[in-house]
Amino acid sequence: MTKPKNKPAPVAQTGSDTFQYDAIIIGTGPGGEGAAMNLSKSNKKVAVIERQESVGGGCVHWGTIPSKALRHSVSRLIEYKANPLYRFAEKPQRHTFQDILNHASTVISKQSNLRSSFYERNRIHLYQGNASFVDQHTIKVEHIDGSQDLITARTIVIATGSRPYRPPEVDFAHPRVYDSDTILSLKHNPQRVLIYGAGVIGCEYASIFKGLGAKVDLINTRDRLLAFMDAEISDALSYHFWNSGIVIRHNEDFARVETRDDGVILHLKSGKRVKADCILFANGRTGNTNGLNLPAINLKADGRGQLKVNENYQTEIDNVYAVGDVIGYPSLASAAFDQGRIAADAIAHGECADKLIIDIPAGIYTIPEMSSVGKTEQQLTAAKIPYEVGRAQFKHLARAQITGTEVGSLKLLFHVETKELLGVHCFGERASEIVHIGQAIMEQKGPGNNVEYFVNTTFNYPTMAEAYRVAALNGLNRLFD
Ligand SMILES: Cc1cc2nc3c(=O)[nH]c(=O)nc-3n(C[C@H](O)[C@H](O)[C@H](O)COP(=O)(O)OP(=O)(O)OC[C@H]3O[C@@H](n4cnc5c(N)ncnc54)[C@H](O)[C@@H]3O)c2cc1C
Repeated sequence: MTKPKNKPAPVAQTGSDTFQYDAIIIGTGPGGEGAAMNLSKSNKKVAVIERQESVGGGCVHWGTIPSKALRHSVSRLIEYKANPLYRFAEKPQRHTFQDILNHASTVISKQSNLRSSFYERNRIHLYQGNASFVDQHTIKVEHIDGSQDLITARTIVIATGSRPYRPPEVDFAHPRVYDSDTILSLKHNPQRVLIYGAGVIGCEYASIFKGLGAKVDLINTRDRLLAFMDAEISDALSYHFWNSGIVIRHNEDFARVETRDDGVILHLKSGKRVKADCILFANGRTGNTNGLNLPAINLKADGRGQLKVNENYQTEIDNVYAVGDVIGYPSLASAAFDQGRIAADAIAHGECADKLIIDIPAGIYTIPEMSSVGKTEQQLTAAKIPYEVGRAQFKHLARAQITGTEVGSLKLLFHVETKELLGVHCFGERASEIVHIGQAIMEQKGPGNNVEYFVNTTFNYPTMAEAYRVAALNGLNRLFD
């Protein structure tokens, strides 16, 4: 990424104000990209600032994409080892984290190059450097060579993402102590991995290391795994982790991390000690607002570095917007992209008719995978909504038998009177794809949202979509007058 060739940028005339750009976007993750592309499509003059060498954000370089590529390689490896077709083939030697990182690196560079071409094609000026506020229309860009630029815009969009929370007393400079960003630089081949924090990232990496053959200890600060998921689905994950040999310890808090040349010992407040070759800290994230010089515009982040916004993603400062992880929930790449797009519409047209959907799907790429959209049984029960449950087990589906992906199930929750689909919960291979069929029906307003659709339509056969027909029939058969 280079400085724009045609600097200084032509001035954008905006009423009585004169600025170089209509909008400056800080950060090129999905939030920044969504905003930049949509503003450019609205014929706005846009500059984007990124402190990394290439575009894509945490999403492409150290978050979503690498973890999913690693997970995919591990899951294919497991599948290969389990497939009877290959039982006489020479057994693959044990693969290391480094081996599977090669595949991830290829995907990262393909994604980054592709996204870079979007900026070029849309004639968006890219600045490489650290951005900070001078005033509410002026941003200082500090380049890697020490030079600086001051650029101005009518509107600024903060899309700076988040970083792993690092407890100050833990020595993250030690070569055996990692967080979810630095784990990608792991060079040794750990036989025993300790993961502190059993949220989505902790559970996904537990699956990856277990799949590579390491012994995994997963330390959970809560009393169950992924409590925001439907209890049956998170119980299924707990069972599969237990069955694969992952040791989960619930309700634990760390007291200190003792580092040694060959590993770490985690001392827990409960008095337990756990030893491993390395530790991955995956316990919370902080918004990237610390380097933005927010006091210059009288804007304050909360204790977790996050910014408050209204429904148009506007902060307390009229011309400053914020999208993506820096505003907190749901902290997903999927949502960040849409938030950027919606904010851009609000900036370009004064308001945006589109809003982020309420039921954002969750896709959790553990082994096995899980995904859900809509309400859980626990939420519906608490809200006293009369619902019925329809279930399909993957092991009964022809497609699952053919592909050897028989572990898993689909659960549909629907209103007993209106038959409106209220929740879709899926566990098993391709869950995060399968859930979208249910999501499409759930998003229909009025009579279009009816679980009977799955019984009355014709899906390709054999496919995993058959699970919808089976689950719908299972649930509808439970209804009585
Ligand atoms: C291990 C892991 C797995 C994940 N898996 C998933 C998943 O499966 N699905 C999903 O939807 N989400 C997933 N996420 C979350 C997802 O990656 C984030 O929600 C998403 O990247 C947020 O996008 P963003 O645009 O807000 O920020 P980011 O993608 O983090 O991009 C922010 C960019 O801003 C830049 N920046 C920051 N400060 C400055 C500054 N001062 N000046 C210039 N540039 C700056 C950064 O360098 C970065 O490039 C995962 C995250 C992690 C860590």
